[in-house]
Amino acid sequence: MHGTAPNRPSLSILLAAPRGFCAGVDRAIQIVEAALERFGAPVYVRHEIVHNRHVVETLEAKGAVFVDELAEVPEGRPVVFSAHGVPKSVPAEAQSRNMIYVDATCPLVSKVHHEAEHHHAAGRRIVLIGHAGHPEVVGTLGQLPEGAITLVETVEDVARLDADDSTPLAYITQTTLSVDETAEIVAALRARIASVVAPRKEDICYATTNRQTAVKTIAPRCDAMIVVGSPNSSNSRRLVEVALRAGSADAFLLQRAAGLDWARLKGVATLGITAGASAPEILVEEVIAACRERFDVSVEEISAGEETMRFNMPRALSA
Ligand code: SF4
Repeated sequence: MHGTAPNRPSLSILLAAPRGFCAGVDRAIQIVEAALERFGAPVYVRHEIVHNRHVVETLEAKGAVFVDELAEVPEGRPVVFSAHGVPKSVPAEAQSRNMIYVDATCPLVSKVHHEAEHHHAAGRRIVLIGHAGHPEVVGTLGQLPEGAITLVETVEDVARLDADDSTPLAYITQTTLSVDETAEIVAALRARIASVVAPRKEDICYATTNRQTAVKTIAPRCDAMIVVGSPNSSNSRRLVEVALRAGSADAFLLQRAAGLDWARLKGVATLGITAGASAPEILVEEVIAACRERFDVSVEEISAGEETMRFNMPRALSA
């Protein structure tokens, strides 16, 4: 519709930056695309390559086939492991079946795997701060023999730990946690076991941290915040929590513009928009376009910093 629409309420959109794709997600998608080019379709992918339906469906249209387990991959076809990382048993099984496999595990997840191995070799018990059942946590737990790593999800779990100051202990974390909640859990851990060894450099990744900082910057000005992302995306869910904690009156996840409950924007004058690390920018644009159909929209991007991180492709595909 053209021309002025005097009855449309005005809506001021604050766009958080950085938002959306991180270097690990970018690389994982490129790996699947490069594998399709190198080996031809179909290329099998164990688990959602990244937690976003739109990304998965786009790759499916190009010839990727998503499976839950290696047993579903036919003889002779290549398989890609997702960005979240896999237990050691998975590449071991692929090797024993002589499969062609490409590992799209984010290098920042691999870094946590290496820390776990290092602590284990040094004779330390390991506490993993993370969310039970998330594929990254399953992958990290699977780097070492059962029982070597204890999962801790809350401050209460720390109180239940069977350890004291004489226990050689180290902690590692999932990469996509809430920075503030994790700090509380770490403080509780230190209060119980002062000698606990911390990661040399934060395990929560730069992308998670930056997206949370950007949300905190705009949240106090927002009547509502939309986080474009999938319900199974850990970093996206954390952004909703961070927005609420930082003062946005309302905050919710949204997969696609079509699913937006407009009643929730009733009375909203300032709307924050961000996107999880696995959500493509096109989905953010879709939400803004949908808002423009109902509101007189102004958009202001608020940057909490630049991102320059890039990861190399695995050697198997970079030649
Ligand atoms: S969110 Fe962080 S750890 Fe996860 S893929 Fe992106 S950069 Fe890697």
